[in-house]
Amino acid sequence: MLLLKPDDLKRIADHAEADYPREACGLLLGFWRADGDIEVTGVAASENKATPGRNDRFEIDPELRLRLMRETREAAPVGLDGASRGIIGHYHSHPNGTARPSATDLEMVWEPGLVWLITAVVDGQTVQSAAHLLSESGSRFNDIGLDCLPAGDDA
Ligand SMILES: [Zn+2]
Repeated sequence: MLLLKPDDLKRIADHAEADYPREACGLLLGFWRADGDIEVTGVAASENKATPGRNDRFEIDPELRLRLMRETREAAPVGLDGASRGIIGHYHSHPNGTARPSATDLEMVWEPGLVWLITAVVDGQTVQSAAHLLSESGSRFNDIGLDCLPAGDDA
């Protein structure tokens, strides 16, 4: 299960709607909890570096990724609960699509273990978000579920 603060979920939805009909993308910061859930502690919007004119591709800015990796390592290499924190996944939108990973997404997987949060935007309005992890064989994505943390929880 992926757990997010309502504010972070709204930030993703706002970004997805602002960039419509292009795909919006960004990185998810957080940590794996001892109970097996994944908690998002922050989201970072990225410029979509995919070729302009393509509305069905996304490419996260590698400079943003490097900067965040550096910052999270310096700020909090290990959380209070002992879990390592950092980039745990990314998000992107599917303009006029569904919140399911596409065949293109499966081809684009660049490393296993990252959460894929996908937000479906139809007619400029966010309709659904879903979180996925690549299966161990790497042949498909599994929907891991998505839930909101209580508001105001800054853990
Ligand atoms: Zn996609």
